[in-house]
Amino acid sequence: MTNLQRKRKVNWKRVVLLAAIPVVLIAGGFGAYKIFFQDPYAQYTAYNEDSKQSGSMKHETKDEESYYLSVYYPSYGEDVLDAAIQQYTAGIKTDLKQNSKIIISVDYDSADIFDSYTSITFHQKLYDENGKVLKDEATSFNYDKKAKKMMSVQDVLRRDYISLVRSLAGNANIDEKTITTANLANFSMDEKSVSFYLNNDFDKKITVNYADHKEYIAMTNKNIPSLYQQDEIVPAAQAKIDPDKPMVAFTFDDGPSDLTTQLMDAFDKYDAKATFFMVGPNVERRSDVVADMYKRGFELGNHTWSHAVELTRLSKDELYTEIYKTQDAIFKACGKDAAFLRAPYGSYNEDVLKASTMAHAFWSIDTEDWKNRNTDAVKNEILANLHDGAIILEHDLYGTSVEAAIEMLPILKEKGYQVVTLSTLMKYKGDTLSKYNFVTPSLYE
Ligand code: ZN
Repeated sequence: MTNLQRKRKVNWKRVVLLAAIPVVLIAGGFGAYKIFFQDPYAQYTAYNEDSKQSGSMKHETKDEESYYLSVYYPSYGEDVLDAAIQQYTAGIKTDLKQNSKIIISVDYDSADIFDSYTSITFHQKLYDENGKVLKDEATSFNYDKKAKKMMSVQDVLRRDYISLVRSLAGNANIDEKTITTANLANFSMDEKSVSFYLNNDFDKKITVNYADHKEYIAMTNKNIPSLYQQDEIVPAAQAKIDPDKPMVAFTFDDGPSDLTTQLMDAFDKYDAKATFFMVGPNVERRSDVVADMYKRGFELGNHTWSHAVELTRLSKDELYTEIYKTQDAIFKACGKDAAFLRAPYGSYNEDVLKASTMAHAFWSIDTEDWKNRNTDAVKNEILANLHDGAIILEHDLYGTSVEAAIEMLPILKEKGYQVVTLSTLMKYKGDTLSKYNFVTPSLYE
């Protein structure tokens, strides 16, 4: 055997052994790396892959002296929603007094509710260094994609919704007396139900199924059971307001009537708005006028069902019927609830304010149009008492009243007055209106 031949005879055993050396070294090194450098927070940075049905997921971690934070959150490319989420994630911190380092782990669930709404619930867990759970909290954000605004409980549930949620509290072992509007701020929605996390507690949850309580559902989408299960009406935008110029609100009670459309046509010509305090039977009779009213950006008001007696003389049940039977008729007509209540004869007390989810609206210029039935008399009454922030009371049942309002529009324009809804007046002149009880907030809870 020549040297050459010897070289050619390969010792395969040796090759395998030599090749194994780097493998063993790498594996061993990796093992050592794992022992010495493993992320001690790995178990707190896990997330649920199945619970994210909308938005694109982002992840941030922060390692500070007093805490470690891992937060997952969604991003939508929607300014209002992204800003709300941003504010939440930026504000996460712990105020628990601990001697050792805290670990904060935040994951989320997100869902789109048909093409109308987005619901996000953050699940924030706080641990001590030994992995013991110190806090387990839910924080939700709900967004109306069409209106481009964040939603409150009153955008989801309507009517005397507190009574409904209290009636379901027992199923969740929750004391119904603890339920108020304030602790229903935190809720998550899906396509079938809404769940409230009482006092932000992840484990104290009351669920309302839409189909079981459709008269309480305030959302308008043809897929969601409600008294108005149709496509949502998107109202016309309000005219641009100059806060430095004076403004007044016309309010028309007891209608709608056959004159109401004519009145709205004239107001539209002047870019003017008004608020209509309607009685239930007239709403049912002219539901198309009510839908048109809402679509054109006029404001809806509730003036009870029968208008027969003063609300202050009614039992609690009778009071609820007077208010909510009319509220249901308005919602059925257009998918929107009245924004204010005006008690017949302006007769209200604490019981009325407690029963109504709406603020109570009084007036500051009473034209007595129902008595005088005279166009000039109505106009003179308005002109004699005209002031910035005035709430003018008329009735759209009488030709003389409607005529007087229409004739006032160019006069008010000439004087530099903006003619606005009661909500707009509240927004800019709220302090004065509240001070003199022209508008009194609801005590409902
Ligand atoms: Zn009236």
